[in-house]
Amino acid sequence: MNTATATERWVERAACAGQDSNDWFRMGAPARTTLDTCRGCPVRAECLYDALTHETPNGVWGGLTPAERRSIPALPDKPRAEVLGLLRTILDRLDNAAPSDERTEPVAQPIPAPSSTDAVAKLVPGPPAELPVDDLLAWGDQHIDPDVQAQAARARASLTGLRNRHSSDHELNKITDEEEQLAARLTELRARKAELLPDKPRGKRQHVDYPAAEVRAWATANGHEVSPTGRVRKEVVEAWRAATAGTP
Ligand code: SF4
Repeated sequence: MNTATATERWVERAACAGQDSNDWFRMGAPARTTLDTCRGCPVRAECLYDALTHETPNGVWGGLTPAERRSIPALPDKPRAEVLGLLRTILDRLDNAAPSDERTEPVAQPIPAPSSTDAVAKLVPGPPAELPVDDLLAWGDQHIDPDVQAQAARARASLTGLRNRHSSDHELNKITDEEEQLAARLTELRARKAELLPDKPRGKRQHVDYPAAEVRAWATANGHEVSPTGRVRKEVVEAWRAATAGTP
């Protein structure tokens, strides 16, 4: 499809078709109704594309004032359909950044040479995941949409909670490591202390007031059960005393 044919087709669907063209080319800031008409226009990107490719200096095209069009860099050397997609993204960004009722730019301005392609990157940033977290939050804080601002606030609160938890867990792990090291050291110290302590004195032997060997011999000879070691039972000793009383 050649350019002329493409232009003819989108013009047929223009939202401004049949309206007073002075509204799009008058001096001073464009009327809100004019910008609102463009915002709802189904061929807005096509209109802007033609204005940029033909360096149209005056009037509102694609819902953009001359100054706003100057903020758009040189169009990339790509197929028209691909460039139109880029322009739609840029238009969405501009609409979010500046509602039509806040636009004050005069209409009649000359268009200088397009700026660098870096401007495209500013208008259409990469996916949020590619941004550093702090930059992403700052972007959310400054967003015109209150929902995005609220998301940024929630994300910031969540991050703060995560940072606090990470810090607590880190400290707990350190404490646990130290505890384990101290417990191991305590075990070592106790073992060494046990090695160094002198042996405990053995308990004194209890005094035995009978001749154990003689008593055992007597008991065995007289049918009493006695253990070969240790103390002889009291009744056996008393029986021995009674039996041997008076014996020199
Ligand atoms: S974008 Fe605006 S100026 Fe362009 S065709 Fe649509 S209504 Fe007309």
